Amino acid sequence: MKIIITDEVAKEAMELLKEKHEVVFKELRGEELANEIGEYDALMVRSGTKVTADIIERADRLKVIGRAGIGVDNIDVEAASKKGIYVVNSPGGSTRSVAELTIGHMLSLARHIPRADRSMREGKWEKKKLKGIELQGKTLGIIGFGRIGREVCKLALALGMKCMAYDPLLSEEDIKSNNATPASVEEILKNADFVSIHTPLTEKTRHMISTPQLEMMKESAYIINCARGGIIDEDALYEALKSGKIAGAALDVYEQEPYSGKLTELDNVVFTPHLGASTKEGQIRAGVICAEQILKVLDGEKPDYWVNRNMMKS
Ligand code: NAD
Repeated sequence: MKIIITDEVAKEAMELLKEKHEVVFKELRGEELANEIGEYDALMVRSGTKVTADIIERADRLKVIGRAGIGVDNIDVEAASKKGIYVVNSPGGSTRSVAELTIGHMLSLARHIPRADRSMREGKWEKKKLKGIELQGKTLGIIGFGRIGREVCKLALALGMKCMAYDPLLSEEDIKSNNATPASVEEILKNADFVSIHTPLTEKTRHMISTPQLEMMKESAYIINCARGGIIDEDALYEALKSGKIAGAALDVYEQEPYSGKLTELDNVVFTPHLGASTKEGQIRAGVICAEQILKVLDGEKPDYWVNRNMMKS
């Protein structure tokens, strides 16, 4: 069968597909993709290709759309479902990468690493000003205890931290079995030295951290968001950081990306440009898992990571 890949994916993923099928890599967009999609049985993308209803409409042979990664906001899942096209992804492929970045952000905040780097480039030697804290013995509050939240917990425990976790879909036993203490969001905000967000962005989580929540936090506490922009209210965060209500923040994701807003004026924020999943290993894992899903569908099997499972007649 014929597979088209329209965003750069790991070569390991491409090779896996090539073992059984004809694979074409072309960075087609919009009308160009719509004009050619009718020739293919499978489409593999990352986040760069917008798979719109117009494209899907002309995808007469298409059986599966694979997203090497998690978020499928760039795919019209409803249109695909109506046409009986499977949408598959690769959750878990970037779990470790995002968890390690989260720990990196915690260390950056605790030891002022980015600030120290900036200050030395300005010819300064600010030893006293940049005195930090250890992570050992501190409490990490994890909001959203799914794959990434649990991996962050594992790494934090290895550093000698204590973990509290909140997740409405998990039982206290689930949380305890990962060596974290079950807690409410309020308990986390009031007690944690570091608060890390690992929920999806939903109606319920949009701005779940705003002024009232930031006001509950300790003045010495830090907040980290490596999940999705919009979960923390950026205006409220700016005010809390500027007025010293909390000590600092680290962000990988933003309400508007690329981000260049007013938080960049503040010295107590550490930024990365949505790098959570951007590791060599993470990209390989995400690509290979996605390719495996595509192969399953082309072999007539049900995929493991089937985004529109509930939207299609099985
Ligand atoms: P997951 O589905 O395994 O875990 C998410 C958890 O959040 C679930 O256990 C769910 O029950 C919980 N949750 C849902 N609503 C909640 C709420 N209101 N309060 C608290 N918890 C809630 O997902 P994951 O793979 O761990 O991903 C977590 C987040 O990280 C997602 O937003 C994902 O998009 C994001 N992510 C970011 C990057 C990046 O590049 N920075 C990369 C991959 C994933």
